[in-house]
Amino acid sequence: MSRQRVIRCAACAGRIRPQHPSIGVEDLETGVEFSYHARPDCQIRCAEETATRLVAGKVYAAHHYHASTCPDAASGFDCSGGCFDTPMAVAN
Ligand SMILES: [Zn+2]
Ligand SMILES: [Zn+2]
Repeated sequence: MSRQRVIRCAACAGRIRPQHPSIGVEDLETGVEFSYHARPDCQIRCAEETATRLVAGKVYAAHHYHASTCPDAASGFDCSGGCFDTPMAVAN
């Protein structure tokens, strides 16, 4: 019945709930997006896996999704909700 897509973290296979900030790495060629928790261990996996995929010559865009509880819906890192306290190594 649920129309909401269940998003699972590609690093830990845990579910990413709306109140969890998360990172999406989108394959611009296929539109497939890999999602990761914003917590440090999952971000590290995200950086490693994205680096591996980049070797294959693909182009990715990273998206940062704030937690549903974050009061700063429109801002990036440094939001007052603290979604992305750990800087993400993959950005550049
Ligand atoms: Zn995770
Ligand atoms: Zn936020």
